[in-house]
Amino acid sequence: MGIMVEPAVARARNFINGRWSEPSGGHSIERRNPANHDDLVGVVPSATREEAQAAVAAAAAAFPAWRDTPAPIRGRVIARATEIMTRRTEELARVLTREEGKTLTESRGEIQRSINVLDYMAGEARRISGETIPSELPKNFAYTLKQPLGVVACITPWNFPVAIPVWKIAPALITGNTVIFKPATITAFTAMKVVEMFEEAGVPPGVLNLVIGSGSLVGDVLLSNSAVKAVSFTGSNEIGSALYAQGAQRMQKMQCEMGGKNPVVVLEDADMGLAVESALQGAFGSTGQRCTATSRAIVVESIADEFVRRLAARAAELKVGDGSQEGVDMGPSVSDSQFKTVLEYLEIGRKEGATLVCGGQQLAGGAYDKGFFAAPTIFDHVKPGMRIAQEEIFGPVLSIIRVKDFDEAVEVSNNVIYGLSSAIYTQNVAKVFDYIDRVETGIVHVNSPTTGGEAQMPFGGMKATGVGLREQGRVAIDFFTELKVVYVDYTGQKRESKIY
Ligand code: NAP
Repeated sequence: MGIMVEPAVARARNFINGRWSEPSGGHSIERRNPANHDDLVGVVPSATREEAQAAVAAAAAAFPAWRDTPAPIRGRVIARATEIMTRRTEELARVLTREEGKTLTESRGEIQRSINVLDYMAGEARRISGETIPSELPKNFAYTLKQPLGVVACITPWNFPVAIPVWKIAPALITGNTVIFKPATITAFTAMKVVEMFEEAGVPPGVLNLVIGSGSLVGDVLLSNSAVKAVSFTGSNEIGSALYAQGAQRMQKMQCEMGGKNPVVVLEDADMGLAVESALQGAFGSTGQRCTATSRAIVVESIADEFVRRLAARAAELKVGDGSQEGVDMGPSVSDSQFKTVLEYLEIGRKEGATLVCGGQQLAGGAYDKGFFAAPTIFDHVKPGMRIAQEEIFGPVLSIIRVKDFDEAVEVSNNVIYGLSSAIYTQNVAKVFDYIDRVETGIVHVNSPTTGGEAQMPFGGMKATGVGLREQGRVAIDFFTELKVVYVDYTGQKRESKIY
């Protein structure tokens, strides 16, 4: 008879000053696969304040040498990370799906986006340039240059646990900063894989540090340590606004990217098939857990019945289940608390008097009982003021708001506190440009879904969604650098005219 060996339970680890070590805070959580609670992904212990402080100290000590490493050489490290992530895509996708729940296809898509960001930033390292600007004085040379900030903190959510860390860490590193990365606790194992790849790429010890642990404890260290010069945060409004206030007290440079309530507008002349597919993908892709998810479809009354009928038929075809299995279109909610939030909003929608078209309930029976599965849900006849039309649900729930015309569609689009992404479906060029002009979102899609974005394009929102500079694209360099303005007088003489 063979001896049964219990498989060792994985334990999440910090990465501080080039060394992996277990957080010693005492408190820990069990992370289970959200599609199958029998599958224990691992145990996530929490770091202590001292460990978080040690990470800041390591990053501060590593800063001078990294700052003085020529930017193109820093870029080569990122180029190696691009190759490594490309080679290890499948391994990373499996960890991501197991821990976060999105389908394998979605995981591969997220990783490809991350590879694109790395690829772009590796090249951008050779273009961290300032400007030369003509001086108003003779024989004077005036220019600007961009210099690193020092130690920066990247605090990230669970919903894109590869792409968001990468789109913060890569620009921070190429510009010569050293980084403390504080991932969402429930996706700590994915975060470790990402850091492993930077380690394999040759990021020197102390230049990138990972601290696992509760937001309140680790976050507080990062927000109160004067060595941390900037914080790049993505997550909820509740946390983001509190951090923004905390950072302001020490004049920390901050960028916070937060919630969304993204609309797709469908006008009478829209390509209906395209608009239906867009709403379907936007609302139910990644189980609605994207900051750019479509959560409101604002549809002109004359075509609304047909739109709703066709969309509901497509939603009914979606296969919900364990995202690691072939043919599954939509995975579970990420966690118990997120799932409860979704179920609460299903109840709220009913109570508010919206018409439930499809879904509206938890999926039960068989494998569904082991995960956080809700049916893709559509509410029709939603009024713009209802909570399901105003608040971020972060689940597979779409509200249809019927409007009489284009002007009302614009008004309803803007009638929320958020302003991340929007989409419009129409063939009318004048309305396209009018919408682009008037809609209050940081990203606008024309005849394409509210989701997605390209690595070389800036990303982020207006109003309550975002404060600070946009992420990605060239503007990411601006966030992670200080702009220095230089005047060089080569007349060798006392200045006669004054500069005002
Ligand atoms: P969250 O609860 O705000 O957490 C985000 C991060 O902040 C996590 O790492 C969390 O750590 C940490 N944190 C919590 N409390 C903290 C504190 N007091 N100090 C410092 N850090 C703290 O958000 P989430 O639930 O992970 O993510 C979902 C939200 O992110 C949604 O609102 C979504 O719209 C938004 N999002 C926005 C964008 C965008 O670009 N606009 C992109 C993706 C997601 P713990 O995990 O340990 O709590």
